[in-house]
Amino acid sequence: MLRAVRGGRAVWAPRGGSGSGSGGAKLGRPLRTAAPQRSDIFRELGPRLSRLGQALRGQLPESEGAWNSLRPHQNSPPPPERADVVVVGGGVLGWSVAYWLKTLENRRHGMRVVVVERDPTYSQASTVLSVGGIRQQFSLPENIRLSLQSATFLRTINEHLWVPNEPPIDIQFQPSGYLFLASEHGAATLEAGVKVQREEGAKVALLSPSQLKAKFPWINTENVAVASYGLENEGWFDPWSLLNAFRRKAMSLGVYSCVGEVTSFVADTADNTPGMPRGVGRVKYVNVRLPDSPEQQPVSCAIVVAAAGAWTGKLLDSATAGLQGSLTLRRLPIEPRKRYVYVWHCPGGPGLETPFLIDTSGAYFRREGIAGNYLGSMSPPEGREPDAGNLEVDHDFFQEEVWPRLAHRVPAFRSLKQVKSAWAGYYDYNAFDQNGVLGPHPQLPNVFVLGGFSGHGLQQSPAAGRVAAELLLHGSCAAVDVGRLAPGRLWGSEPLLEAAIV
Ligand SMILES: Cc1cc2nc3c(=O)[nH]c(=O)nc-3n(C[C@H](O)[C@H](O)[C@H](O)COP(=O)(O)OP(=O)(O)OC[C@H]3O[C@@H](n4cnc5c(N)ncnc54)[C@H](O)[C@@H]3O)c2cc1C
Repeated sequence: MLRAVRGGRAVWAPRGGSGSGSGGAKLGRPLRTAAPQRSDIFRELGPRLSRLGQALRGQLPESEGAWNSLRPHQNSPPPPERADVVVVGGGVLGWSVAYWLKTLENRRHGMRVVVVERDPTYSQASTVLSVGGIRQQFSLPENIRLSLQSATFLRTINEHLWVPNEPPIDIQFQPSGYLFLASEHGAATLEAGVKVQREEGAKVALLSPSQLKAKFPWINTENVAVASYGLENEGWFDPWSLLNAFRRKAMSLGVYSCVGEVTSFVADTADNTPGMPRGVGRVKYVNVRLPDSPEQQPVSCAIVVAAAGAWTGKLLDSATAGLQGSLTLRRLPIEPRKRYVYVWHCPGGPGLETPFLIDTSGAYFRREGIAGNYLGSMSPPEGREPDAGNLEVDHDFFQEEVWPRLAHRVPAFRSLKQVKSAWAGYYDYNAFDQNGVLGPHPQLPNVFVLGGFSGHGLQQSPAAGRVAAELLLHGSCAAVDVGRLAPGRLWGSEPLLEAAIV
């Protein structure tokens, strides 16, 4: 039975990391290359090509698993007519909660969990278009705990997700600290964040500008007042491998995987659950539109988990359109926001010890492989969100916004010769406060929301999926108090602000 979690109390958390950092804007532009053609291909074939490219460059294990992931649900059967839990969305969060539900349930009950995914190629899913980073450097205890617990899970992933008779899981974890730089303006916020991180058990060092220069001589420390550097549990990994590992393990435990789009929820309006607002009953079944067919298949269920990533707000809007009773259902502002990622080659750039650097300006980069390749970008400045209607890459954004900031911070990038490739993906953006939304929907008694993690949902998926499953199964979760992440806060006036948003 779905039970309510503790009501959310929102707090104010200052934003950090401002400062212009764009002193390099006067520098000459890097040479234009064939990158647009490459990104056209990316746009058409999406992450499958990226995966294929990785495999061809020898960056993937030679296991069959890597190749199977190119066709993840090829022979998916239609959904069953009845389920205990329907998870809408087969991204990393959807498969994580499905895995945890089957792992934590009382096996005698044999709960039937169905994951419904509309796009088996994951061509637009955030998970596979992310840059795969994990860090402990947040300002909110909830985010630090979720990431710390997820790091522990990833460290021991084969104890959790290995499927007998299959090769061991290799998520290609690259250990590397995040390096956050703060100007005078952001220094106090960064230092306050590190204090909370240490209280929560994270190992993070504070570096003065001279210590920073001694450790990373290639950094221009102009305008840097202080830096924080993660000493363990940080780095990046292959998102596909994690998604597939959750999916395979969950399926081996009996979770059903179905291709189809959940189009509507059908509720019993006569049923008014005690304590819930009158007018909206429990969702009795969901309608699933099957691929290449106008046919809708109803799946009756006890619980719906809305884990539709960037489309969670849209799902709840459209699927509940027919449910309006005497109550108007309110929107959850979880929506797609386009973010670009660029990969460039710079033979004279920083070496293997390169951290995942977050500049005072918000621009970031990290190493990509070992051959002088780097990957990076930044979120668009306030009020300049690109059109989210497509995943086209804006190359001028790199030339005009990202590269000048990074070339200022890392002078070696001034001689940047080649932008090799680029792609765009959607942040699963919570427009209210850019933090995960995790808990029962305040107006729909048996709908649970798991989405809106913005730029940090991949890394938090192991712990967030577990917490969600515990709340669904037991009504409480001892390991992380996520009461403040409950969806109700999105309709209040006090956002739960995280200072370390990238
Ligand atoms: C460029 C970029 C960089 C990022 N970098 C990082 C990072 O370094 N670290 C990090 O932790 N996070 C990062 N993120 C964020 C992270 O990728 C997301 O928070 C996370 O992957 C969200 O997972 P999800 O399962 O909720 O969403 P998704 O992976 O998008 O999965 C949701 C799925 O739901 C499906 N769906 C939607 N509607 C329906 C429907 N009606 N019926 C059936 N299926 C439906 C979609 O097809 C989709 O496959 C990044 C994101 C981007 C775009």
